[in-house]
Amino acid sequence: MDYSVCDILTDRAKENMKEAHMKSLMTLKEVGFMLCKHDNRIDSGYWFSGDEWSIPTEKMNGCPEGEPVGFYHSHHSMLPEPSLSDLLVAYDRGYPYLCISGGSKHGDSHVVVCYDISPVWDEIGRLSELVSELGEASESGEDASDILAEIERVEREVNDVIERNSCSFEVEEYRRIVERVRGRRRD
Ligand SMILES: [Zn+2]
Repeated sequence: MDYSVCDILTDRAKENMKEAHMKSLMTLKEVGFMLCKHDNRIDSGYWFSGDEWSIPTEKMNGCPEGEPVGFYHSHHSMLPEPSLSDLLVAYDRGYPYLCISGGSKHGDSHVVVCYDISPVWDEIGRLSELVSELGEASESGEDASDILAEIERVEREVNDVIERNSCSFEVEEYRRIVERVRGRRRD
């Protein structure tokens, strides 16, 4: 990639992601908004919200300007990595970009991570097929352990590739709050 997704995000989109993440931490509900490509930049589109662990996909719609190219959402209690369903929703809709906020793997910081999933488009297509096969197998009561193992294998491959191509930025407000709380404890 010549440039990362983060380079073409507007400042407004980045600020909205940080704000949404803090809101999500306080309510313990997932929130997010569409990513809309307009004038070669990616801006925030219409917002949506869900419950603790998911967002109904029918709520995820709309760009006031430009065309939808992905979505951002918060993981308030999970790492900022796409779940299988996050990948499949983006794939079904033909969206190359996913931005997710959450606690970083290392230390106390919270970050927004943006992924370009287009290099692994075919692999995500394979995941989509495998998930259908899994559904059919469980309906007919067949042993699905091979399918499950294959899903895990492909998902790991997808995650390895997209993690290498990801970009991220910090939710500074989270760190400020942690530091304030620590400072108060020392008093
Ligand atoms: Zn998610």
